[in-house]
Amino acid sequence: RLVLGIETSCDDTGAAVMDETGTILGESLHSQKEVHLRSGGIIPTVAQQLHRENIERVVQEALDRSGVTPAELCAVATTVKPGLALSLGVGLQFSQRFVREHNKPFIPIHHMEAHALTVRMLHPLTFPFLVLLVSGGHSLLAVARGVRDFLLLGHTLDEAPGDTLDKVARRLSLRKHPQCFTLSGGQAIELLAKDGDRKRFGFRTPMGQTPDCCFSFAGLRNQITMLIKKKEAEEGVEEGTLLSCVNDIAAATQHTVALHLAKRTHRAVLSGGVASNQYIRKALMIITEATGLRLLCPPAKFCTDNGVMIAWNGVERLREGNGILPPDVDVSYEPK
Ligand code: ATP
Ligand code: FE
Repeated sequence: RLVLGIETSCDDTGAAVMDETGTILGESLHSQKEVHLRSGGIIPTVAQQLHRENIERVVQEALDRSGVTPAELCAVATTVKPGLALSLGVGLQFSQRFVREHNKPFIPIHHMEAHALTVRMLHPLTFPFLVLLVSGGHSLLAVARGVRDFLLLGHTLDEAPGDTLDKVARRLSLRKHPQCFTLSGGQAIELLAKDGDRKRFGFRTPMGQTPDCCFSFAGLRNQITMLIKKKEAEEGVEEGTLLSCVNDIAAATQHTVALHLAKRTHRAVLSGGVASNQYIRKALMIITEATGLRLLCPPAKFCTDNGVMIAWNGVERLREGNGILPPDVDVSYEPK
């Protein structure tokens, strides 16, 4: 049984064809990252337009690469929540037309559930397991009890770590650094931190006094912004043109994010865009080793948004016969 997975919740148009064992037969991904990096953030109407321009081709490419025809598919799985309304709409509209045209069942997918289950595509991992999801829009810790059964232990009280890293990177104009032209904020910080001294600047780890599983990153970002302002003033340079200690700031930022995540996680399966950070993975490894647990992380390309994780979620649902809709049922997207 073959599943086509489609992802358009944010700024990546992704599609993949997968068989029931989780083998990827064909995939295609169009990233809008460069466009959004240039405009300093995602403009929803632009994201929508780019999804519209690319979805047909991306899906066709995934089908062509797999050598599978629409008639051979068993179901189509598509992200319907959460995400940007305008982006979700493009994928959903395309998918509903597609399933009606080819008379295929439709499986509406929860994007965070897909991030959380990706690890089961790669490892023989059984429920229950603990999952730490850290991305551009989320920071949450949950017990995965089943394919559609998650117990939420903690979430971010303000912003998500990917958002924090992106904003710090923007404040430092990291995009202008020759090595960072095409990198997301998080990737740029990871790269620059490699040549930085994380001990030169000390940031307070968030929520030291709160013994729960929630997260907070806004206060940390404030500390970082204050430091950047101070350094800019000391060196008499304009806003966003600091050069001298950027690597050290990146290293201290990454270190504090890692420490905060590690402190609030005792056993974890890790996914989401921020989870591709090697430094953060190491910090979590230290925690899991100390507690005799195993840390499992999908490789970076499966951590950020893609069609493969949606196809896999479709496979998991198909195996359970859970939440599979006939082609003519109207489904709406839910941004939140
Ligand atoms: P959500 O999944 O919550 O809807 P999203 O889909 O925008 O959010 P992802 O595509 O999962 O998020 O991840 C993108 C985020 O991951 C960006 O904020 C980016 O800066 C961050 N990121 C990517 N690579 C790294 C890295 N190596 N280190 C740290 N952060 C990273
Ligand atoms: Fe995502």
